[in-house]
Amino acid sequence: MLTIENIEVTYHHTLQALRGLSLEVPEGKIVTLLGTNGAGKTTTLKAASNLLQLENGQIGDGRIIFRGQSTKGVPPDKLVQRGMFHVREGRHIFTEMTVDDNLIAASYALDGSSRKPDYDKVYDFFPRLRERRGQIAGYLSGGEQQMLAFGRAMIAQPRLILMDEPSLGLAPKIVEEIFSTIRRLNEEDGASILLVEQNAGVAFQVADYGYIMESGQIVLEGPVAKLKEDPDIRSFYLGVA
Ligand code: ATP
Repeated sequence: MLTIENIEVTYHHTLQALRGLSLEVPEGKIVTLLGTNGAGKTTTLKAASNLLQLENGQIGDGRIIFRGQSTKGVPPDKLVQRGMFHVREGRHIFTEMTVDDNLIAASYALDGSSRKPDYDKVYDFFPRLRERRGQIAGYLSGGEQQMLAFGRAMIAQPRLILMDEPSLGLAPKIVEEIFSTIRRLNEEDGASILLVEQNAGVAFQVADYGYIMESGQIVLEGPVAKLKEDPDIRSFYLGVA
């Protein structure tokens, strides 16, 4: 679904954020990317969705292949139409617009295709959003805003969802809810998912495969069942001896 091969990324032509990073998201799988603050996780997602240019980030060597085609020079909105949806950190919903209008705005991803947005499906998935569909999105709770961000992704009917720290700042109960949604998106819609997290405990509950990055490079990778047994991962990321 997504192959990132040996990419180098610099910001402002000086700060090197990614140093020959490679990873793969196979079709239908959930892959998690873990790492400490500043390791380059968000940069990796922005490189994949071509949002780096907006921030003075440049991809140097390397290549990114999405559904068999290079993403080089493809505008972000075209990648959305090709089936990639990036749920950004901080959610990036339209806080001044209603819940309904946020979902309608996401349907532009389907322009030019014969597919129709399925609003009922989102509201069946998230009954709490249905109750608040006329409300201004900025007044939703943090967990509801994250649900809306996922709802927008569902409207776009992506084949690949890039998720940037969906658990950030949410209470444990809401995190459980959000992660069961991630599993459903994968199982029911067959969406492949690249999940960036700091919370390895929850990421490992849903992911098939994991990559650990430090200073712009992958330092460890493997099936989640195996990573969970790794002594360094257990002490550093899972907080168990
Ligand atoms: P966190 O978990 O804290 O979000 P991260 O692993 O997602 O961290 P990135 O946000 O990708 O890390 O940042 C990687 C490096 O690139 C950091 O050194 C960061 O300061 C730098 N960086 C990120 N965005 C920019 C930008 N727009 N301009 C300049 N430098 C940036």
